Amino acid sequence: MSKRCVIYCRVSTAEQAAPGHHSLDAQETLCKRYADAHTLQVIEVLRDEGYSGRTTRRPGLRRLLEYTGTEPPQPIDAILVQDTSRMGRDSTEYMLFRRDLRQRSIELIAVTQPNIDSSPEGMLVDTIMAGINQYQSEEKARRVSIAMMKKFEDGWWPSRAPIGYLNVVRDGHHILAPDPERFPLMQLAYREYATGRHTQEGLLRILTEQGLRDHEGRNITRGGLNKMLANPFAWGLMRWDGQERQGRHEPLTDRQTWEHCQHVTAEHNKYVSRARKHTFLLAGLTTCALCRAHHTRTVNRKKRKRYVHCQGRARCPQPYIPENALEAQVADLVQRIELSDAFITAVIERIHDVFERRATITGRKKAILLREQTLAEEKRRAAEHKLLAGVLTDEAFGRLVPEITVELDRLKRRLDDLEGSRRIDTSVLREVFQIAKDIPAAYARSQPAMRRRYIEFFFTEFIVKDRTIVRPVPTPFFATLLQFDRVRTKGVWQPSVNTNLTAEQYVQFVPWLSEQLVKLRGLVLHENLARSS
Ligand SMILES: [Zn+2]
Repeated sequence: MSKRCVIYCRVSTAEQAAPGHHSLDAQETLCKRYADAHTLQVIEVLRDEGYSGRTTRRPGLRRLLEYTGTEPPQPIDAILVQDTSRMGRDSTEYMLFRRDLRQRSIELIAVTQPNIDSSPEGMLVDTIMAGINQYQSEEKARRVSIAMMKKFEDGWWPSRAPIGYLNVVRDGHHILAPDPERFPLMQLAYREYATGRHTQEGLLRILTEQGLRDHEGRNITRGGLNKMLANPFAWGLMRWDGQERQGRHEPLTDRQTWEHCQHVTAEHNKYVSRARKHTFLLAGLTTCALCRAHHTRTVNRKKRKRYVHCQGRARCPQPYIPENALEAQVADLVQRIELSDAFITAVIERIHDVFERRATITGRKKAILLREQTLAEEKRRAAEHKLLAGVLTDEAFGRLVPEITVELDRLKRRLDDLEGSRRIDTSVLREVFQIAKDIPAAYARSQPAMRRRYIEFFFTEFIVKDRTIVRPVPTPFFATLLQFDRVRTKGVWQPSVNTNLTAEQYVQFVPWLSEQLVKLRGLVLHENLARSS
């Protein structure tokens, strides 16, 4: 009786594209010819097309492992492959596989590698080949990642183009070009979203109506849009393998607009759940002094008035209160807050320190870049001198100069970027100062959604009786400031103070408020933008 065998063929996507590789059909033919010549009976031919040797999730391999398992579909004597690299690229897994085969007395025949047999020499060659297979695979992965990093360092996105761009070849270089179809739509996306007028769902609807689809022609998902809006790639910043770099692709938007988009998202995330249910400024912040329950809200559409009230007249006799009456009282409370100069100074100093540190780092980076720029320029001048002196051949000069030019371009881009971020820092600093110096004025200027932020700096709750706020409950921050005389509340009103903090601990609110104000500035910016549009 002739021996029974299974043929296994595999080709990866990369191999299919590369010349000099055997196709699945060619592998099968080679193996079948071998089987005929050695009177082996072929039971099954297994083919894995487009599967890397680095994965074991291959349908053909899975089937093959059934034959080598404890309950094979049929007993077999041999497996035929073109060469051992078809089995896989991981030497450890391959050796384990070989051990299983030996235990079951199944022979692995690599038809183009006759040296591999069950003799000690054959097994040595097999082991060496397995090591080589793995080495080749890893070496290729390394070459690819080096090439990608090189491309990244040249300022080009080394991978698949994000939506809005196309991977194109220009003068032999793989670069990103604006996608004539999607680029204008993505520009529109950032422009519109930055105004704060759209939710992401709303924006997605508009973009889809306008015809925006992904590279496969599918609708963009909400999650996809969210990712795109958050990706600094839009204004030029590329991130790859833990590194950041200004890309040379044409930006979809400028950095400031993109930052507005981030504030809009932050804003939506904070408010969207609450805002959708009700648009009340004081929602969840007012409590009835009698029944101690949070107020509920009712909109009288006929009168176009909104009321806050207790839950059911049966339980509490307190009257309905027009919401704007309460809002006016809260506004008045905020207007009475006067942070002490000492505290404001401390906050401003803190903010100043943070920005100063950033400026120092920026300055240091800039000095390094400028030095590199000088060196590159000197190198170019030296090359020119050498050319004139006849030390350097024209050919060598022609090779050297483009290299230096690329380097100078790169330095200039990084310097520009540094300058850009410095300008943004300065404008943030100025606006934060303005808010810090006069919070009541900033509150009065802002819109309801933003006012909520200011209120939450100072108050956790307002207790209401007979349509009047009888006790505003301060936040720990505000309470501490009150306790240590870092704030005055003009007029008769004096909130009750109850805090366990010590005099020294109030200082902890300096960095806290500084940070809050920087965040708030982003929102104010967005608000102004929304208003002007
Ligand atoms: Zn009540």
